[in-house]
Amino acid sequence: MMQKTLVILKPSAIQRSLVGEVISRFERKGLCLVGIKMIQLDDKILNEHYAHLLSKPFFKRIKDSMMATPVIVCCWEGVDAIQVVRTLTGCTNGRLAAPGTIRGDFSISQQENIIHASDSIESAEVELKRFFKPDEIFEYRPAVTDAIYANDEY
Ligand code: ADP
Repeated sequence: MMQKTLVILKPSAIQRSLVGEVISRFERKGLCLVGIKMIQLDDKILNEHYAHLLSKPFFKRIKDSMMATPVIVCCWEGVDAIQVVRTLTGCTNGRLAAPGTIRGDFSISQQENIIHASDSIESAEVELKRFFKPDEIFEYRPAVTDAIYANDEY
């Protein structure tokens, strides 16, 4: 199923000059970039975005870490994009994430783990609405589509 998913390049990616590297990995996979912008996160949006971590002792620390620099939010589109992006991302703790994944290759931390990626169809929908206005997401068909997919795949 053709899906859209949210990726946030966190301050750890910005500080460590990994923006090009991370975006390049998604591009080379065959995902299509349909939205991208730099924004400064604030307390309000992070209270929503990380609501599931509200009771954790490290909640304030994660929010401070996410506000340390501006971030880059991206919308990637592709067949099963939500799972594909999570697989390329690797598990939360960079020390445990598999080599070859973004976190496995670039993070040695549970907190400073380079990117956020939506984890389900439901959260991708809610998160994309949280970070993008409708006219900031673009619809286009990459010219290379038939080199990326069989025509019964999308
Ligand atoms: P994921 O980002 O892999 O979906 P979670 O939603 O569980 O993981 O957590 C959101 C973010 O909060 C993580 O990406 C990480 O930056 C931070 N985090 C999660 N657990 C911890 C922890 N135990 N200590 C510090 N930071 C954490």
